Amino acid sequence: MPVSVMPMQKRDDGGPHPAAVSATALRKSYGDRTVLNGIDLHIPTGTVFALLGPNGAGKTTVVKILSTLIDADGGRVRVAGHDLAASPRDVRTAIGVTGQFSALDGLITGEENMLLMADLHHLTRREGRRVTADLLERFDLTGAAKKPASTYSGGMRRRLDIAMTLVGKPRIIFLDEPTTGLDPRNRHTMWRIIRELVAGGVTVLLTTQYLEEADELADRIAVLHDGGIVAEGTAEELKRLVPGGHVRLRFTDPVAYRSALSTLPDADRDDEALSLRVHGDGGQRELRSLLDRLDAAGVEADELTVHTPDLDDVFFALTGGTRKPTRSNRSEEADR
Ligand code: ADP
Repeated sequence: MPVSVMPMQKRDDGGPHPAAVSATALRKSYGDRTVLNGIDLHIPTGTVFALLGPNGAGKTTVVKILSTLIDADGGRVRVAGHDLAASPRDVRTAIGVTGQFSALDGLITGEENMLLMADLHHLTRREGRRVTADLLERFDLTGAAKKPASTYSGGMRRRLDIAMTLVGKPRIIFLDEPTTGLDPRNRHTMWRIIRELVAGGVTVLLTTQYLEEADELADRIAVLHDGGIVAEGTAEELKRLVPGGHVRLRFTDPVAYRSALSTLPDADRDDEALSLRVHGDGGQRELRSLLDRLDAAGVEADELTVHTPDLDDVFFALTGGTRKPTRSNRSEEADR
């Protein structure tokens, strides 16, 4: 199905409000496998941006490039106003990264992991202890602080990972699949933490294979597929890209039903159920015009429901039916 790509926002022009992340024509191949075929990203400061894609789409590759862990084959990237190629050290200072390549050491305790981070960031011993205690408390890890991190559950490890990242007070955080493999309770805790970070002014780039997660958290979503960004926009904008939206009108009175039919001759009819299905985007303007037409004809429906497509529909339409990831087949680590 041909799908138009949402217009991208204005590029970072180095003006007074530079984007947190701005990438243009980013390319990366491994051997003859092209993972990123010239993608553009623009993440306004203070927002949550979700990079959504199935397993193997290249999400981690993007995060690794943006966080200077690997080099792109081509393209231009600015992070926190710094050119990635020219000033990788400045970029590293501005960002925090958590995910599959976390710095967490399982052999030492959660507290020791935190103190190590404090050392790396050159905090004084006293300041390091204060920050460690604060963050362990904030992430509900005080009780487990003296236990080896290897004994932590998946949810606790993710929380420790984020706490360690925050020691450096980053303005931009990359979260690579922060909830993959977590149970629903830990997933919701992670969502709360992410919301709190953003409320504190941090910009978040989040990768996920979960549509629901992107829908819940992200201001903007980019769908990564086959080396490219096949669509970008708010969850609502993306939902409007796929057909399937409609308004359903139900009647109990056959006379009212017939009047509605003659008022809305293009609607799909179900004579048995006395219901009509009017196709459209389910948007406010369309709904108002529909109601105006019914009012003008003196028709009143007994029930009116608006159906908008969900992100599942979008994802399937855009990626041509790529297998939907389910939590059960992605559970990489057991949560206790
Ligand atoms: P995602 O994070 O979306 O699951 P990745 O960025 O990890 O995807 O991987 C994208 C593709 O690149 C996959 O096909 C993966 O096998 C391949 N890939 C990733 N890292 C390497 C590497 N170091 N060498 C070769 N291929 C790689």
